[in-house]
Amino acid sequence: MKKLLFSKTKIIATLGPSTIDINMMEKLILAGVDIFRVNFSHVCDEKDVKKIVSNLEKLNKKHDYNVALLADLQGPKLRIGNVLEGTILVSGAKIIVTSKEIISNSKILYVSYKDLYKDLKPKQRILIDDGNIVLEVLKKRTDKTLECKVVYGGKLKSNKGFNLPNTTTSLDVLTKKDKKDLKIIVKYDFDFVALSFVRSVNDVRYLKSMLKKYKSNLLIISKIEKPEALNNIDEIIDESDALMIARGDLGVEIPLQQVPVFQKQLIKKTRAKQKPIIVATQVMESMIVNQTPTRAEINDAASAVFDMADAIMLSGETAVGKYPVRVVETLQKIITYVENNNETKHKTPFVVGNKNEIISDLIGYHSTVLSNEAGAKGMILFTGSGNSARFVSSTRPQSNIFAFSINKKTVKQLSISWGVKVFSYEKNMKTLPEAIEFASKILKRKKFIKIKDLIISLTGVPIEDCAKTNTITLIKVK
Ligand code: PGA
Ligand code: MN
Repeated sequence: MKKLLFSKTKIIATLGPSTIDINMMEKLILAGVDIFRVNFSHVCDEKDVKKIVSNLEKLNKKHDYNVALLADLQGPKLRIGNVLEGTILVSGAKIIVTSKEIISNSKILYVSYKDLYKDLKPKQRILIDDGNIVLEVLKKRTDKTLECKVVYGGKLKSNKGFNLPNTTTSLDVLTKKDKKDLKIIVKYDFDFVALSFVRSVNDVRYLKSMLKKYKSNLLIISKIEKPEALNNIDEIIDESDALMIARGDLGVEIPLQQVPVFQKQLIKKTRAKQKPIIVATQVMESMIVNQTPTRAEINDAASAVFDMADAIMLSGETAVGKYPVRVVETLQKIITYVENNNETKHKTPFVVGNKNEIISDLIGYHSTVLSNEAGAKGMILFTGSGNSARFVSSTRPQSNIFAFSINKKTVKQLSISWGVKVFSYEKNMKTLPEAIEFASKILKRKKFIKIKDLIISLTGVPIEDCAKTNTITLIKVK
């Protein structure tokens, strides 16, 4: 059975051609995956989506798990087009950049961005293939092309992405392809949708309005991969349901050395606002081809655990890599060890100043203090929307958080939250003792708690009125 004493940091694994098979998905879940990500930059076929959704449904049923599904929209990712085989750009050479579609060569390069001429100015840079090739604009030409200098050359390959750091692009956050993909996404049983290249709060609001139109209850994960997003971060966090530090594009869009600093800041900020945050990209990159990660990768994953990010995401490692199961096992081992050997971790639970929810906030905060001091083995709570579980999770208690929800969507959407283990239930509870007894019975049966353990329950009393959380109870398990 999957990690009985589950770890607090969650694992997201991207599915790819070799991993959408049901046996492979099962192995990945058993190795520690909490959420699967479907990357719409690569999966375009509704048939694949259908297969993934039905595989997961079967596996969740078989194992009584709540592994969730995340759809990642490509967003306005800029790409070059076809390139003449064997094209090499030489450092120092000049090259014309055009938005008219042609097959590119070392003298002229096509990029799929029609406002290129309007938006780019001399001295601005075009970073191709994650910054492996860098061009700098010398001047605009009368034929609406740009004359550029090759700053760092290299082999140019077809369809590579490119970034325009420090250029405010006039692109819509949802492309035609994204809108088409979104129609498929809302039709199937996804739990989260990730929005790429968010620049402002309006980008998030736009996706929200689309979801409203489809009457969809997907949670929105804003991918932070543009400098503009960092400038508008507070508003973006407020409007989003969760955040992703998308270090792949972010590391091209801002100077590399700034990424770790922003990673730490974003984890703190997002957690203080009681929302989950994912650390993504190049976590175990070398394991795409190797059996073991580099020592630096181990440290990077450990650092995300020390910083208490909610989840760590694998991309190519599980989508196209040679050792998908081994990657998840390795990451799980690092998470488990670091979590159990992190001495400073639970010293400072957050006090969050959300004035509208002062009672449930204070209850959440003090239940964590009480739980830590009592050495409680679990915190039990019943939640409809998931908000109270997200709050308690944001205080990062030492004990596990056992959330029970009658709402099937909430059950899966809580799978991303740090330290939360979720159960669905159908029974209508009438009194506090009845609720506690119901929860402890399940937790005892699953061996998460045992007789004489101390546990804490957080409830809204009276229960039959579905009151907001207002009561903490400290109980010895009978
Ligand atoms: P991507 O996003 O994999 O969709 O590019 C993650 C990142 O940029 O880090
Ligand atoms: Mn990206």
